Amino acid sequence: MRKYRASLGVVISAILFLAACGHSSPSTDAAQSGPSPQAPAFPPAPPAETTGGFDGARAYKHVEQLVAIGPHSAGTEGIRRAQAYIIGQLKSFGCAVEEQDFHADTPIGDVAMKNIVAKAPSTSPNIVIYASHYDSKRLDNFVGANDGGSSTGVLLELARLLCARKNGVAPWLVFFDGEEAFNFNWVDPDHTYGSGEMAARLSLSGELHRVKALILVDMVGPTNPLFRRESNSTPWLTELVWSTAARLGYGKIFDNSMNAIEDDHIPFLQRDVPSTDIIDFESPVMEYWHNNKDTLDKVDPRTLAITGHVLIATVPELEKKFK
Ligand SMILES: [Zn+2]
Repeated sequence: MRKYRASLGVVISAILFLAACGHSSPSTDAAQSGPSPQAPAFPPAPPAETTGGFDGARAYKHVEQLVAIGPHSAGTEGIRRAQAYIIGQLKSFGCAVEEQDFHADTPIGDVAMKNIVAKAPSTSPNIVIYASHYDSKRLDNFVGANDGGSSTGVLLELARLLCARKNGVAPWLVFFDGEEAFNFNWVDPDHTYGSGEMAARLSLSGELHRVKALILVDMVGPTNPLFRRESNSTPWLTELVWSTAARLGYGKIFDNSMNAIEDDHIPFLQRDVPSTDIIDFESPVMEYWHNNKDTLDKVDPRTLAITGHVLIATVPELEKKFK
């Protein structure tokens, strides 16, 4: 979960809160959550050769696997299965994988968490982070197909491509634990535990200055997506991503209007790491945001393909800038 900043008004937050809550009560949702994985709700992703080698069908398969694990909020048995899946996939792609274990002080007490970092081969010391959270929100029967699943699937497919080649920047694929608040609402400091931990560790180790950019993806599964420019983000990096998308023909999806969202990029922005956030936080998504309608049938493989196409196309742009 994330909210618009107070500067945009408590009223907006309240409306969002009501929108989410208003759809969260029926207890039968999980059993009536739409088509089974055997009957996808949307047409398949386009062929990988039309989306920069990024295979939307593979990304979708990862989302399917994460959803099949069931609820996987921080500190649960479910998230341990999600971790095993993500790490197993990354190793099968030849990525160097680092597990970052830590403990977080949360409203439910001490919780063991794990960030997962895949480092792709590179000739450069300059790090570019592509990041997502992989924990699902702590709600009964909540699997987070869009919220947590979609972006994790995209990053896994991106890892397959980037770990198989030598890159002119050092891409790190980072899977954050503990993005979601343990409380129903997003109240400081109960959120973004994993990204906060990683930013702090990189600062302590002295590596943070090598991180030239962080591109976060979150809730990138909806059909007919709309990605606005996030106003907390670093303008040059947002421009780089959005102009790349426009060049690829996605100018209507990567829209030039603005919004303001708190997410895993904030701890990095607070430490002066250029960061941006690709997120669809629009009204159709609000109908299944943080309730048990966030199921696999909400994830459109074509949107995963578009997101992945844009991400893979940002690599040469960042190489030009930081080689
Ligand atoms: Zn969430």
